Amino acid sequence: MIRIRNLTKWYEMGDSIVHALDGVDLDIPAGEFVSITGASGSGKSTMMHLIGCLDRPTSGTYELAGEPVDQMSDRQLARVRNERIGFVFQTFNLVNRTSALDNVAVPLIYAHKGGTRRPAMRALARVGLGRRAHHRPNELSGGERQRVAIARAIVNDPPLILADEPTGNLDSRTGRQILEIFHELHAAGVTIVLVTHEMSVAAQAQRVIRMRDGKILEDRRVDAAYREELLRDEEAGDEDSPASGSENG
Ligand code: ADP
Ligand code: MG
Repeated sequence: MIRIRNLTKWYEMGDSIVHALDGVDLDIPAGEFVSITGASGSGKSTMMHLIGCLDRPTSGTYELAGEPVDQMSDRQLARVRNERIGFVFQTFNLVNRTSALDNVAVPLIYAHKGGTRRPAMRALARVGLGRRAHHRPNELSGGERQRVAIARAIVNDPPLILADEPTGNLDSRTGRQILEIFHELHAAGVTIVLVTHEMSVAAQAQRVIRMRDGKILEDRRVDAAYREELLRDEEAGDEDSPASGSENG
């Protein structure tokens, strides 16, 4: 699904350059559930924006489902985002003056699809919010808002979901419920890339990629032993372990 080679993203800051991504190679097969983790500033969001075609790399190549997206026009990228990728953000990014149903319908409108009501209702039902369709986001709890955002992300049936700290604004119980939805989507065949600085969240994936200073520090399958190690690291407050300690995100 994702094939990335020697990807870099540099930001010029006055007379210095920030190497937000510094030569990353990454393959993610279709159907995988991957976490990207690392301390604040390690390049997670930059990676997510590039994978999500929200931004362009400084150099390197990126193929999504066999297509070289690094060479596409803005218009083509907008189409790829709309058809292939569902986005979930920490702050939900919902429109408050309209209903949950209307929020979920937005990607359908961009795709110029008629009859938005039924698929939007179906997506809300899939995240257990069928009965809240006519509520506005500010009438919903944080967990319910994130469910609306997930319904919006899946309404076009994209094969890839990208989530940047989706549980970051939620209490741990609500966070677990949201992760349950990601597990269900994964079981239904969706590829999931989940960015989080919380090891207990990262450990839920099949594979954990740890970043540091714009590079991949470690890329490992999750088994029972590794899961325990990750949970221990979280208790110790050490996001960069086993290499060394670091600041918190
Ligand atoms: P993370 O999501 O892991 O916290 P980011 O990808 O947001 O990390 O940032 C990686 C590095 O790139 C940081 O040093 C950050 O300050 C820098 N950075 C990110 N976005 C920009 C930007 N738009 N302009 C300048 N520097 C940026
Ligand atoms: Mg970030």
